[in-house]
Amino acid sequence: MPQKLLQFVVREKAMPRKRQAAERRRDFAEIYGEFETEAAAEQAARCSQCGIPYCQVHCPLSNNIPDWLKLTAEGRVEEAYEVAAATNNFPEICGRICPQDRLCEGNCVIEKGFQSVSIGSVEKFITETAFAAGWVTPPKPRRERAQSVGIVGAGPAGLAAAEQLRRSGYQVTVYDRYDRIGGLLVYGIPNFKLEKQVVARRHALLAEGGIAFVTNFALGRDASLPELRARHDAVLIATGVYKARDIACPGIGLKNVVPALDYLIAANRKGLGDAVPEFDSGALDAAGRDVVVIGGGDTAMDCVRTAVRQGARSVRCLYRRDRENMPGSQREVRHAEEEGVEFVWLAAPEALLGKRKVSRIRAHRMHLAMPDSSGRQVPEPIAESQFDLETDLVIKALGFDPEDVPALFGEPALKVTRWGTIAIDHRTMMTSLPGVFAAGDIVRGASLVVWAIRDGRDAAAQIERYLEAQAAAAIVRAEAAE
Ligand code: FAD
Ligand code: SF4
Ligand code: SF4
Repeated sequence: MPQKLLQFVVREKAMPRKRQAAERRRDFAEIYGEFETEAAAEQAARCSQCGIPYCQVHCPLSNNIPDWLKLTAEGRVEEAYEVAAATNNFPEICGRICPQDRLCEGNCVIEKGFQSVSIGSVEKFITETAFAAGWVTPPKPRRERAQSVGIVGAGPAGLAAAEQLRRSGYQVTVYDRYDRIGGLLVYGIPNFKLEKQVVARRHALLAEGGIAFVTNFALGRDASLPELRARHDAVLIATGVYKARDIACPGIGLKNVVPALDYLIAANRKGLGDAVPEFDSGALDAAGRDVVVIGGGDTAMDCVRTAVRQGARSVRCLYRRDRENMPGSQREVRHAEEEGVEFVWLAAPEALLGKRKVSRIRAHRMHLAMPDSSGRQVPEPIAESQFDLETDLVIKALGFDPEDVPALFGEPALKVTRWGTIAIDHRTMMTSLPGVFAAGDIVRGASLVVWAIRDGRDAAAQIERYLEAQAAAAIVRAEAAE
């Protein structure tokens, strides 16, 4: 039934059904269900249709949130989907895994006196309804164009760009070194946040729309960047950042001290039914172990919650700042706590102890001192505050940096920033090499899926401009030659 808007005063915020922690601990399925149609309309109707919608301002895709909320409240879900899909290639993914508390929902104005509108869950409802009804279709160009684009990296940045370019009629090939499409959506982010079939469903649609996918292809190993440039009229690099940051402390080389992504990839592959010898050998399996995860970002949250599901005896998260100053989503911390994870705030490792294998972490307490030039308070160790934690699996989740991409891709002329990310002209998204563009984490550093989608869309628009200019120049040259 169509709902009147501005219901936030009388109607409380509700989320779709969340499974109980005891049940969640036993499997890797997503923790939230979906809204029923009536509940979605009721929640969408809480929106006050702000003149200046701060939710939209703080959505990296500038989604027309008030419009699709209004349409949902009125029961016009197909139109709501069209509005949502106009600015976002994968709204069902963002609805699930955007840190909404820091983006759209955290800036919803009714959040000040009431709880925000459940924007992410409504976005997921709209898109899942669209999939069920068959409204989501493969990219279909109005006319084919002969020019081709090679996209390296099948994460959200590469896939968003591929879809946009294919819609415009270009011949698009996406290359990836993995055997599956999706990048961190498949091999980083665990199932309980984003089920793999959600990504596979998009892959199938993109392939049906005529995008060619070449898997098990690593740029730098199977072809150099100059070779790829020779194959395509334009190239987009969207390879993400994968070099794990490390800590310098004694004992870091002990057995059973593992990088977060190795651990998560093994868990994700296992869930997908792959043979994973390093998991089966126990090296990357938390079952029955006392796990300590070092770090406070989204990756650390995914590790602790994966360890719980694998049947760890205990799971602790050691982070050098406090809860308010952690980079990870507060919502994820709440989920982790509900599932039995213990957080050891304001603590940092001093040494890892053990003979061959790690058996203890010696940590010290920290306090937050004056802010540095970035505005963040600097954590400093408190003298004589050491304490030990028993552990037999330590997972390092300290963030990621880019690899040495010019060397890796066999193209020393590719310019990088001082952080090692690929340098681009931010107006054209072109790198130092003509016709080579870059997008996503490899440009921004480790960031978010929604920003990768935004970058992929922006890069596609710039590639289209570049290719149109190239085509026009070719016509002029041909006419001059006649
Ligand atoms: P990626 O997703 O990393 O994709 C890059 C692709 O390039 C990969 O498929 C890779 O195989 C391929 N590639 C790399 N090198 C080569 C090469 N040489 N040749 C061919 N292919 C190559 N963000 C959120 O918004 N919400 C979350 O909840 C969230 N959770 C996260 C959890 C974890 C554990 C991690 C690590 C990240 C998380 N993020 C989250 C961040 C998010 O996943 C990334 O910001 C996003 O995936 C970046 O997209 P991308 O397309 O730039 O790169
Ligand atoms: Fe919110 Fe992300 Fe959706 Fe934007 S894309 S409306 S930030 S959930
Ligand atoms: Fe609606 Fe909140 Fe956005 Fe305002 S800020 S338009 S109330 S969702």
